[in-house]
Amino acid sequence: MEKAFLKIILCSLLLNYVAVFSASQDFDFFYFVQQWPGSYCDTSQSCCYPTTGKPAADFGIHGLWPNYNDGSYPSNCDPSNPLNPSEIGDLKRSMQRNWPTLACPSADGTQFWSHEWSKHGTCSESVLDQHSYFEAALSLRKKTNLLQALESAGIKPDGSSYSLGSIKDAIKESTGYTPYIQCNTDESGDSQLYQVYVCVDTSGSGLIDCPVFPRGECSSEIKFPAF
Ligand code: AMP
Ligand code: AMP
Repeated sequence: MEKAFLKIILCSLLLNYVAVFSASQDFDFFYFVQQWPGSYCDTSQSCCYPTTGKPAADFGIHGLWPNYNDGSYPSNCDPSNPLNPSEIGDLKRSMQRNWPTLACPSADGTQFWSHEWSKHGTCSESVLDQHSYFEAALSLRKKTNLLQALESAGIKPDGSSYSLGSIKDAIKESTGYTPYIQCNTDESGDSQLYQVYVCVDTSGSGLIDCPVFPRGECSSEIKFPAF
Protein backbone atom coordinates (compact mmCIF):
# COMPACT_ATOMS: atom_id res chain seq x y z
CA MET A 1 0.00 0.00 0.00
CA GLU A 2 2.68 2.47 1.01
CA LYS A 3 4.82 1.44 -1.93
CA ALA A 4 2.02 2.03 -4.42
CA PHE A 5 1.39 5.45 -2.93
CA LEU A 6 5.03 6.36 -3.28
CA LYS A 7 4.98 5.20 -6.87
CA ILE A 8 2.04 7.46 -7.67
CA ILE A 9 3.73 10.45 -6.07
CA LEU A 10 6.96 9.80 -7.95
CA CYS A 11 5.12 9.33 -11.22
CA SER A 12 3.19 12.54 -10.90
CA LEU A 13 6.35 14.43 -9.98
CA LEU A 14 8.05 13.03 -13.06
CA LEU A 15 5.09 13.91 -15.30
CA ASN A 16 5.08 17.42 -13.94
CA TYR A 17 8.77 17.78 -14.64
CA VAL A 18 8.40 16.52 -18.23
CA ALA A 19 5.43 18.84 -18.87
CA VAL A 20 7.26 21.89 -17.55
CA PHE A 21 10.37 21.20 -19.57
CA SER A 22 8.71 20.34 -22.86
CA ALA A 23 6.56 23.46 -22.62
CA SER A 24 9.44 25.70 -21.65
CA GLN A 25 10.50 27.69 -24.68
CA ASP A 26 13.94 29.00 -25.35
CA PHE A 27 12.62 32.03 -27.17
CA ASP A 28 9.43 33.39 -28.74
CA PHE A 29 10.38 34.41 -32.27
CA PHE A 30 13.34 35.45 -34.44
CA TYR A 31 14.36 38.77 -35.85
CA PHE A 32 15.88 38.20 -39.26
CA VAL A 33 18.16 41.19 -39.79
CA GLN A 34 19.48 42.29 -43.17
CA GLN A 35 21.93 45.09 -43.76
CA TRP A 36 22.60 47.57 -46.56
CA PRO A 37 26.39 47.40 -47.11
CA GLY A 38 26.56 50.98 -48.38
CA SER A 39 25.34 52.21 -44.99
CA TYR A 40 27.82 50.07 -43.05
CA CYS A 41 30.69 51.39 -45.17
CA ASP A 42 29.96 55.12 -45.51
CA THR A 43 30.10 55.84 -41.77
CA SER A 44 33.05 57.37 -39.98
CA GLN A 45 33.99 53.84 -38.92
CA SER A 46 34.26 52.72 -42.57
CA CYS A 47 34.57 49.04 -43.60
CA CYS A 48 36.79 46.46 -45.26
CA TYR A 49 35.66 44.26 -48.12
CA PRO A 50 35.89 40.51 -47.59
CA THR A 51 38.97 38.68 -48.89
CA THR A 52 36.70 37.31 -51.64
CA GLY A 53 36.13 40.80 -53.03
CA LYS A 54 33.55 43.57 -52.98
CA PRO A 55 30.11 42.17 -52.15
CA ALA A 56 27.19 42.65 -54.53
CA ALA A 57 25.23 45.89 -54.23
CA ASP A 58 22.46 44.08 -52.38
CA PHE A 59 21.25 43.51 -48.84
CA GLY A 60 23.39 41.10 -46.86
CA ILE A 61 22.44 39.03 -43.85
CA HIS A 62 23.45 40.33 -40.42
CA GLY A 63 21.81 37.70 -38.32
CA LEU A 64 18.93 35.52 -37.22
CA TRP A 65 18.27 36.50 -33.63
CA PRO A 66 16.10 34.64 -31.12
CA ASN A 67 13.97 37.10 -29.13
CA TYR A 68 11.34 37.24 -26.40
CA ASN A 69 7.93 38.85 -26.75
CA ASP A 70 8.82 41.34 -24.01
CA GLY A 71 11.58 42.82 -26.21
CA SER A 72 14.50 41.21 -24.43
CA TYR A 73 16.65 38.48 -25.90
CA PRO A 74 18.92 35.63 -24.83
CA SER A 75 22.56 35.57 -25.90
CA ASN A 76 25.60 33.30 -25.73
CA CYS A 77 23.49 30.36 -24.61
CA ASP A 78 25.94 27.50 -25.11
CA PRO A 79 29.67 28.20 -24.89
CA SER A 80 30.30 24.48 -25.35
CA ASN A 81 29.01 24.62 -28.94
CA PRO A 82 31.20 26.92 -31.07
CA LEU A 83 30.82 27.04 -34.85
CA ASN A 84 32.45 24.11 -36.57
CA PRO A 85 33.20 25.46 -40.09
CA SER A 86 33.41 21.95 -41.52
CA GLU A 87 29.71 21.45 -40.74
CA ILE A 88 28.72 24.27 -43.07
CA GLY A 89 31.29 23.76 -45.82
CA ASP A 90 28.57 23.23 -48.43
CA LEU A 91 27.02 26.61 -47.54
CA LYS A 92 30.22 28.64 -47.53
CA ARG A 93 30.04 30.00 -51.08
CA SER A 94 26.47 31.06 -50.63
CA MET A 95 27.30 32.65 -47.28
CA GLN A 96 30.19 34.58 -48.78
CA ARG A 97 27.74 36.01 -51.31
CA ASN A 98 24.78 36.59 -49.03
CA TRP A 99 26.29 37.11 -45.55
CA PRO A 100 29.39 39.18 -46.28
CA THR A 101 31.70 40.33 -43.53
CA LEU A 102 32.53 44.05 -43.70
CA ALA A 103 34.60 44.41 -40.55
CA CYS A 104 38.26 45.39 -40.70
CA PRO A 105 40.70 43.90 -41.33
CA SER A 106 39.42 41.99 -44.38
CA ALA A 107 38.44 38.43 -43.60
CA ASP A 108 36.65 35.53 -45.21
CA GLY A 109 33.54 35.66 -43.04
CA THR A 110 34.14 32.74 -40.73
CA GLN A 111 34.79 35.06 -37.77
CA PHE A 112 31.57 37.01 -38.30
CA TRP A 113 29.50 33.83 -38.74
CA SER A 114 31.10 32.28 -35.65
CA HIS A 115 30.20 35.38 -33.64
CA GLU A 116 26.60 35.24 -34.86
CA TRP A 117 26.35 31.52 -34.13
CA SER A 118 27.81 31.79 -30.62
CA LYS A 119 25.90 34.91 -29.60
CA HIS A 120 22.54 34.18 -31.22
CA GLY A 121 22.46 30.76 -32.90
CA THR A 122 23.23 28.82 -29.73
CA CYS A 123 20.04 30.26 -28.21
CA SER A 124 17.88 28.43 -30.76
CA GLU A 125 19.98 25.26 -31.01
CA SER A 126 17.08 23.18 -29.67
CA VAL A 127 15.26 23.91 -32.96
CA LEU A 128 18.06 24.54 -35.45
CA ASP A 129 21.49 22.94 -35.40
CA GLN A 130 24.43 24.79 -36.98
CA HIS A 131 23.72 23.69 -40.53
CA SER A 132 19.96 24.29 -40.31
CA TYR A 133 20.50 27.69 -38.70
CA PHE A 134 22.60 29.04 -41.55
CA GLU A 135 20.45 27.31 -44.14
CA ALA A 136 17.34 28.91 -42.63
CA ALA A 137 18.89 32.37 -42.81
CA LEU A 138 19.95 31.90 -46.43
CA SER A 139 16.50 30.76 -47.42
CA LEU A 140 14.85 33.69 -45.59
CA ARG A 141 17.05 36.09 -47.49
CA LYS A 142 15.92 34.61 -50.79
CA LYS A 143 12.33 34.69 -49.64
CA THR A 144 12.35 38.36 -48.63
CA ASN A 145 14.34 39.83 -51.54
CA LEU A 146 14.38 43.35 -50.13
CA LEU A 147 16.17 45.14 -52.95
CA GLN A 148 13.64 43.95 -55.47
CA ALA A 149 10.80 44.92 -53.13
CA LEU A 150 12.18 48.45 -52.86
CA GLU A 151 13.10 48.86 -56.49
CA SER A 152 9.69 47.81 -57.69
CA ALA A 153 8.36 50.75 -55.66
CA GLY A 154 10.89 53.08 -57.31
CA ILE A 155 13.19 53.14 -54.25
CA LYS A 156 16.76 52.78 -55.46
CA PRO A 157 20.20 52.95 -53.81
CA ASP A 158 21.07 56.15 -55.61
CA GLY A 159 21.97 58.38 -52.70
CA SER A 160 18.65 60.19 -52.69
CA SER A 161 16.17 60.38 -49.83
CA TYR A 162 12.93 58.48 -49.44
CA SER A 163 10.18 58.66 -46.87
CA LEU A 164 10.41 56.05 -44.12
CA GLY A 165 6.75 55.25 -44.74
CA SER A 166 7.29 54.49 -48.42
CA ILE A 167 10.13 52.11 -47.54
CA LYS A 168 8.03 50.23 -44.99
CA ASP A 169 5.08 50.12 -47.38
CA ALA A 170 7.19 48.72 -50.22
CA ILE A 171 8.48 45.89 -48.02
CA LYS A 172 5.02 45.20 -46.64
CA GLU A 173 3.60 45.13 -50.14
CA SER A 174 6.11 42.50 -51.20
CA THR A 175 6.53 40.33 -48.06
CA GLY A 176 3.11 40.81 -46.50
CA TYR A 177 4.57 42.07 -43.22
CA THR A 178 5.58 45.44 -41.80
CA PRO A 179 9.34 45.51 -41.16
CA TYR A 180 11.32 47.49 -38.61
CA ILE A 181 13.79 49.89 -40.19
CA GLN A 182 16.99 50.77 -38.36
CA CYS A 183 18.98 53.81 -39.43
CA ASN A 184 22.51 54.94 -38.86
CA THR A 185 24.29 58.11 -39.88
CA ASP A 186 26.77 58.65 -42.67
CA GLU A 187 29.96 60.65 -42.30
CA SER A 188 28.13 63.94 -42.73
CA GLY A 189 25.56 63.00 -40.10
CA ASP A 190 22.63 62.20 -42.41
CA SER A 191 20.20 59.47 -41.35
CA GLN A 192 20.17 56.51 -43.73
CA LEU A 193 18.65 53.07 -44.26
CA TYR A 194 20.94 50.66 -42.38
CA GLN A 195 19.13 47.45 -41.39
CA VAL A 196 15.77 45.85 -42.02
CA TYR A 197 14.21 43.56 -39.41
CA VAL A 198 11.47 41.08 -40.21
CA CYS A 199 10.00 38.58 -37.74
CA VAL A 200 10.10 34.84 -38.18
CA ASP A 201 8.38 31.96 -36.38
CA THR A 202 10.34 29.70 -34.02
CA SER A 203 10.94 27.13 -36.77
CA GLY A 204 12.97 29.74 -38.65
CA SER A 205 10.93 29.35 -41.82
CA GLY A 206 7.84 31.55 -41.92
CA LEU A 207 7.46 35.31 -41.65
CA ILE A 208 5.08 36.52 -38.94
CA ASP A 209 3.78 39.86 -37.64
CA CYS A 210 6.34 41.21 -35.21
CA PRO A 211 5.24 40.62 -31.60
CA VAL A 212 7.30 43.65 -30.63
CA PHE A 213 9.47 46.12 -32.50
CA PRO A 214 12.94 47.21 -31.43
CA ARG A 215 13.17 50.70 -30.02
CA GLY A 216 14.48 53.68 -31.95
CA GLU A 217 13.10 55.55 -34.92
CA CYS A 218 14.61 56.84 -38.12
CA SER A 219 13.81 60.36 -39.22
CA SER A 220 10.86 60.58 -41.60
CA GLU A 221 13.06 61.03 -44.67
CA ILE A 222 16.12 58.80 -44.98
CA LYS A 223 18.92 58.38 -47.45
CA PHE A 224 19.46 55.19 -49.44
CA PRO A 225 23.16 55.42 -50.30
CA ALA A 226 24.83 53.70 -53.21
CA PHE A 227 27.27 50.85 -52.65
P1 AMP B 1 22.75 47.82 -31.44
O1 AMP B 1 23.05 48.33 -30.08
O2 AMP B 1 21.34 47.94 -31.90
O3 AMP B 1 23.77 48.18 -32.49
O4 AMP B 1 22.93 46.25 -31.31
C1 AMP B 1 24.17 45.73 -30.97
C2 AMP B 1 24.06 44.23 -30.97
O5 AMP B 1 23.18 43.81 -29.93
C3 AMP B 1 23.43 43.70 -32.23
O6 AMP B 1 24.34 43.63 -33.25
C4 AMP B 1 22.87 42.38 -31.73
O7 AMP B 1 23.81 41.37 -31.67
C5 AMP B 1 22.42 42.72 -30.36
N1 AMP B 1 20.99 43.05 -30.34
C6 AMP B 1 20.41 44.26 -30.25
N2 AMP B 1 19.07 44.16 -30.23
C7 AMP B 1 18.80 42.84 -30.34
C8 AMP B 1 17.61 42.08 -30.36
N3 AMP B 1 16.41 42.63 -30.29
N4 AMP B 1 17.73 40.77 -30.46
C9 AMP B 1 18.92 40.17 -30.52
N5 AMP B 1 20.07 40.82 -30.50
C10 AMP B 1 20.02 42.13 -30.41
P1 AMP C 1 25.63 41.28 -33.11
O1 AMP C 1 26.22 41.56 -31.80
O2 AMP C 1 25.35 39.83 -33.33
O3 AMP C 1 24.76 42.00 -33.93
O4 AMP C 1 26.86 41.65 -33.96
C1 AMP C 1 27.30 42.92 -33.82
C2 AMP C 1 28.73 42.97 -34.21
O5 AMP C 1 28.86 42.61 -35.58
C3 AMP C 1 29.21 44.37 -34.07
O6 AMP C 1 30.51 44.33 -33.57
C4 AMP C 1 29.15 44.89 -35.48
O7 AMP C 1 30.08 45.89 -35.69
C5 AMP C 1 29.45 43.66 -36.27
N1 AMP C 1 28.93 43.67 -37.61
C6 AMP C 1 27.75 44.15 -38.07
N2 AMP C 1 27.64 43.95 -39.38
C7 AMP C 1 28.77 43.32 -39.76
C8 AMP C 1 29.25 42.84 -41.00
N3 AMP C 1 28.56 42.96 -42.14
N4 AMP C 1 30.46 42.24 -40.99
C9 AMP C 1 31.17 42.09 -39.88
N5 AMP C 1 30.77 42.52 -38.68
C10 AMP C 1 29.58 43.12 -38.63
